[in-house]
Amino acid sequence: MKIFVVNCGSSSIKYQLINMEDESVIAKGLVERIGIEGSCLTHRPAGKDKVVLPSVIPDHVDGIKKVLAALVDPNYGVIKSMDEIDAVGHRVVHGGEIFDKSVLITEEVLKKIEGLSDMAPLHQPPNVAGIRACQKLMPNTPQVGVFDTAFHQTMPPVAYMFGVKYDEYKKYGIRKYGFHGTSHRYVSEYAAKLLGKPVEESRIITCHLGNGSSITAVKGGKSVDTSMGFTPLDGVLMGTRCGSIDPAIVPILMQKLNLDAAGMDKYMNKECGVLGISGVSSDFRDLESAAAEGNKRAQLALDMFCYQVKRYIGAYAAAMGGVDAIVFTAGVGENDIGTRAKVCSGLEFLGVELDPERNNVRGKVTEISKADSKVKVYLIPTNEELVIARDTNMLCGK
Ligand code: ADP
Repeated sequence: MKIFVVNCGSSSIKYQLINMEDESVIAKGLVERIGIEGSCLTHRPAGKDKVVLPSVIPDHVDGIKKVLAALVDPNYGVIKSMDEIDAVGHRVVHGGEIFDKSVLITEEVLKKIEGLSDMAPLHQPPNVAGIRACQKLMPNTPQVGVFDTAFHQTMPPVAYMFGVKYDEYKKYGIRKYGFHGTSHRYVSEYAAKLLGKPVEESRIITCHLGNGSSITAVKGGKSVDTSMGFTPLDGVLMGTRCGSIDPAIVPILMQKLNLDAAGMDKYMNKECGVLGISGVSSDFRDLESAAAEGNKRAQLALDMFCYQVKRYIGAYAAAMGGVDAIVFTAGVGENDIGTRAKVCSGLEFLGVELDPERNNVRGKVTEISKADSKVKVYLIPTNEELVIARDTNMLCGK
């Protein structure tokens, strides 16, 4: 069984071809700058050199077409024919309250996915375009949708409701949905196994810290609260996103900066976060270099980030009546030794004892707490593509 995993952004397509027999990646790659000058496909067949293929790629159908051509190419391809692709798994950002798990895509399902575009206007339409492109090019191959929000559909109303009028929840679906669900699910399931405790009894806090960051409370294997909200802007401050702020700041800044709704949205998503605080970069590596050279704003940005993550850990320990394990994942969580140390320092009162030597590691599954730490701390690299492939395999498995 070979599964083609597709993640369509507004101008990009990330893909992997996974062999489910051993869950190995046969090829992966990225189409960039779709519909913009300079579009290009970077294809990485396993065990061979990568190939960079610049070409005019006007839309997602053409992008997928070029990816499929690369997969079957006699020189750098990895399969003989497209018929070897048994199913396609698509990452879909928003499942609303409709989808609480992955689903085989039918025309009716696709209409429902499309109907949720208002909730994620930048992300949902390209996801739909990717599904339609694959349907067109592989009409007999089953397609599966795997939603970023699905894992969080188990949150109780006390966690997902906002304090706006109930009418707006009913009319417009204004509530917390949460994101990065595929990642939180993968690392929390992994951590539950490492804990060796029955999943039903486990209380795990997963910290997905990357360009976008979210923290989730996973009790008994289910998401019971998460830091991102109606959109991925909520929660901790991120690379360029402001995270949770006093909502009254929004109309005040719109007035002062002379911004309309779209302008304010762009400001909060693209100009704030650790970039906006430091004035240096959204990348934690740049911030750390700048802070080491004495840049106080870069240091403040890093300190704010760690403080806010720590605050969520405390909140979620309270929400679950305790915590058995904390997991770090994604770009910052997997690689940033200093950030992990700073987030955990001061959590000794909860029973968290980080081991500085064990923590001196990047990108591989490691228990980074001391052997006798009451709360285990793990580094677990995330693998969203593998979850998408597994769900697709499960729904289409022959
Ligand atoms: P995305 O949310 O876009 O998927 P990633 O999870 O790949 O992002 O995280 C990307 C971020 O990870 C980078 O912006 C950078 O801040 C951070 N990062 C990557 N490697 C390191 C490192 N060695 N040290 C600190 N931060 C790192």
